[in-house]
Amino acid sequence: MIMNHIRKTAFGYSTQCNIKCEHCVAAEDGYHHIKMELPRARAIIDEMAAANVRAISFTVGEPLIFLNELFEKYEQHPFFGLIKTKGLSNIASFI
Ligand code: SF4
Repeated sequence: MIMNHIRKTAFGYSTQCNIKCEHCVAAEDGYHHIKMELPRARAIIDEMAAANVRAISFTVGEPLIFLNELFEKYEQHPFFGLIKTKGLSNIASFI
């Protein structure tokens, strides 16, 4: 259960990234990318909306790789969104 006083939060759906910074675990050989189950991610977004979260920072890995899977769910709620992209994916379809 998400607490009621959270107004801003970060949300990571997948650790997959299209670049490999030296300091990041994503650059390690044999690194196994983790992706949340889609129904679970959708439920968390609904829980955040129910808890009056107003702003979400989409981060962890490259958020644009899988943003299309969750975009419809984001649009159902009045969130302000910050997308921390590495600029190597096409954001035009989300604008
Ligand atoms: S951009 Fe971020 S997630 Fe991707 S490799 Fe660099 S530090 Fe890791």
